[in-house]
Amino acid sequence: MIANGDVSFWWRQLGGVPEPRSPLPGSMDADVCIVGAGYTGLWTAYALATAQPDLRIVVLEARFAGYGASGRNGGWLTNSVTGGRESYVRTHGRDAAIAQQRAMNDAVDEVLAFAGREGIDIGARKGGELNVARTPAQLARLRRFAAAEQTWPATDVELWDAARTAEHVRVEGALGGVWHPHCAAIHPAKLAKGLAETVERLGVRIFEQTRVTEITPGLARTDRGDVRATHVIRATEGFTAGIRSEHRTWLPMNSSMIATEPLPAAAWEEIGWDGRATLGDLAHVYMYAQRTEDGRIAFGGRGRPYRYGSRVDTDGLTPDDTIDQLTALLHAFFPAARDVPIAHAWSGVLGVPRDWAATVGYDRNTGLGWAGGYVGTGVTTTNLAGRTLADLVLGRDTELVRLPWVGHRAKKWEPEPLRWIAVQGIYAAYHAADRAEARSGSERTSGIAKIANLISGH
Ligand SMILES: Cc1cc2nc3c(=O)[nH]c(=O)nc-3n(C[C@H](O)[C@H](O)[C@H](O)COP(=O)(O)OP(=O)(O)OC[C@H]3O[C@@H](n4cnc5c(N)ncnc54)[C@H](O)[C@@H]3O)c2cc1C
Repeated sequence: MIANGDVSFWWRQLGGVPEPRSPLPGSMDADVCIVGAGYTGLWTAYALATAQPDLRIVVLEARFAGYGASGRNGGWLTNSVTGGRESYVRTHGRDAAIAQQRAMNDAVDEVLAFAGREGIDIGARKGGELNVARTPAQLARLRRFAAAEQTWPATDVELWDAARTAEHVRVEGALGGVWHPHCAAIHPAKLAKGLAETVERLGVRIFEQTRVTEITPGLARTDRGDVRATHVIRATEGFTAGIRSEHRTWLPMNSSMIATEPLPAAAWEEIGWDGRATLGDLAHVYMYAQRTEDGRIAFGGRGRPYRYGSRVDTDGLTPDDTIDQLTALLHAFFPAARDVPIAHAWSGVLGVPRDWAATVGYDRNTGLGWAGGYVGTGVTTTNLAGRTLADLVLGRDTELVRLPWVGHRAKKWEPEPLRWIAVQGIYAAYHAADRAEARSGSERTSGIAKIANLISGH
């Protein structure tokens, strides 16, 4: 019997959905009010509390700390610049784009250093990130990608042939891979739980079961009272559409995962993967996976991309057809895992801005700050966002506040039904493109995918 939903496998491994902290007891004042206790909110609280211990910091969370994507993700602590560096070259110049990349590389190490400093086990192994190609078209894309990455400093990308790829992990049909060292596999919920406990120790007050309905300058309104604060930070990512006047800011994109039972030693012999590099591919509807610290495979992909009206899932509950698709893909990648039962399936939402570029910002006039829109790469970026927000709130002139993503704004998403039609159409096109590329064996990227990229603004 596959466990379905229950927020995530990661939480179940920690004993299930945790007993929530107390809700907001009534209206109160604070210096900083942070809405959302995922990584973004918690890193912001951590950076502020360590920089200025006398600040009165309140975090308001609708469910419990780590309920959202932060407790459900694939555990890739990686250095991707969400949305790519090229747009920053256009707006801020090449040096600024390089600075953004270096800041992301540093953030990977900062998260690992935090865990060491605070004595938190986050199940980490820094084995790098490996993306493989399984069709000639993917291989051609992979080579172009590697060549482009290698024109930048600090990316440290290596192009691997099929044999070298297989030395690290034996993926059925892999024709080659691209690897870089700036990534660790982590246990997502252990990080969320450890972060929440750490900020509480530093004096931050986290109120759970408290949903914010409206954010205005100096005020976070909830059904349990209002928090009045000089600075109010929105850290609600894929759930942002639920806040008044933010309905079309970021589209809640779904991502779904499965986790196997632990694989027997014989299967690991066949697969390899001893270095625990995180594993992805170059398909248009891409997959992502990690070998967990206890010898399972956690394997994710798109599932149903989007729900009408920006609705989100119920505690990660995942449709059967998504579980079947992910399982079939897992088995295609790793035939040795065919007899290993699937233990758990779950889903979550990530925030997608109209231009697919993450953002962090703070308006001095209103005292309102925000961070998010990380698409599928927020595990590391949230740390950079939290430290940047702290500098912005404290009015510090640092290298972080000069990075090109600071203050970035994208236009809003189209209203329904256009939004729903567009996302369904784009993902149907990506699926069709993957099938066409696999069938034809051609090195050329399918024209359907190119059109979908143009429409999506990706
Ligand atoms: C299945 C999946 C796999 C992923 N895999 C990876 C990966 O491997 N690597 C990677 O880099 N990124 C990955 N991501 C993305 C990454 O997890 C997120 O970018 C990151 O966790 C975002 O953190 P956050 O704190 O901004 O948002 P969240 O963790 O979603 O936190 C937002 C919090 O705000 C709360 N909230 C929402 N609305 C309100 C409200 N009105 N009032 C009060 N509280 C509210 C929510 O309950 C939630 O706890 C994945 C995401 C998913 C869903």
